[in-house]
Amino acid sequence: MPDPVPAYPPVHMPDVPHRRLLEGQTAIVTGASSGIGRAVAISLGGAGANVCVNYVSGPDAAQAVVAEIQGLGGKAFAQAADVSKEADVIAMFDAVRREYGTVDILINNAGLQQDSKIEDMTLAQWQKVIDVNLTGQFLCAREAVREFKKRGVRPEISCAAGKIICMSSVHEVIPWGGHVNYAASKGGVMLMMKSIAQEVAPWRIRVNSICPGAIRTPINTAAWDTPEHYAALMKLIPYKRIGEAPEIGRVAVWLASDDSDYIHGVSLFVDGGMTLYPGFETGG
Ligand code: NAD
Repeated sequence: MPDPVPAYPPVHMPDVPHRRLLEGQTAIVTGASSGIGRAVAISLGGAGANVCVNYVSGPDAAQAVVAEIQGLGGKAFAQAADVSKEADVIAMFDAVRREYGTVDILINNAGLQQDSKIEDMTLAQWQKVIDVNLTGQFLCAREAVREFKKRGVRPEISCAAGKIICMSSVHEVIPWGGHVNYAASKGGVMLMMKSIAQEVAPWRIRVNSICPGAIRTPINTAAWDTPEHYAALMKLIPYKRIGEAPEIGRVAVWLASDDSDYIHGVSLFVDGGMTLYPGFETGG
């Protein structure tokens, strides 16, 4: 295992960023057969990374993402794993090592909602959301840290030994009635991410979160599927438009690349200003 405070040579930063920012790196994207995960997997593949397209059900959709990445000239394969199951996660990392040798980037994206008023929320609804959204991110991050520490930095590949990006949410800071399980899971992700970041920084392992606002995906169809719903949503977004999944893909490429090498332990909000207390936009 490398020394925790290694004497690496100074970081080499070219003046102009390389177009394929992730060339030669391998990424795992969890929950990558739809929505944000799909867009992130395709963006990473387009930036030169080999991609493990993780899915829990529906192999055809995952295979379609693999085909899109291959169409961009990238390498990818689909791997089934339930991120809330320890054995599945370990098997997924083993499969990626067999396919590409190591892992450089983990995108902890898989997540779900099971909404209910607090008085009606079942223990099963609470537990399912915590298991996938929080425990799933812990299990994947733990395997990633094990891999990154064992391997250390390869300066010709990246300044960092590895990068973990947690897909959190504006609801890591905005309370959300009717969704207490979801908001609790994302609040948990925030301090999990920052605590891991603090612990592993000396090994040059970078850990950050992307916190999307409202992004047009299957998870929130009810928020944008009619003009009335869309208009109501706009009251929450100072920038007055919904976000699109490829926008998160572009942020993920940059956050996983050496262009953001000094960004560590940060929750990066990509939300059109949703966290700016929009109710006060006309002075309150
Ligand atoms: P989505 O439903 O399209 O994607 C979630 C993916 O996770 C799906 O492909 C699903 O199959 C997968 N998944 C669910 N349980 C899993 C498990 N146990 N193991 C592996 N995969 C599993 O929705 P999305 O909007 O793309 O959500 C992606 C992430 O972004 C989630 O973590 C979500 O909380 C977060 N997010 C989304 C928004 C938004 O507006 N869309 C906003 C903030 C945060």
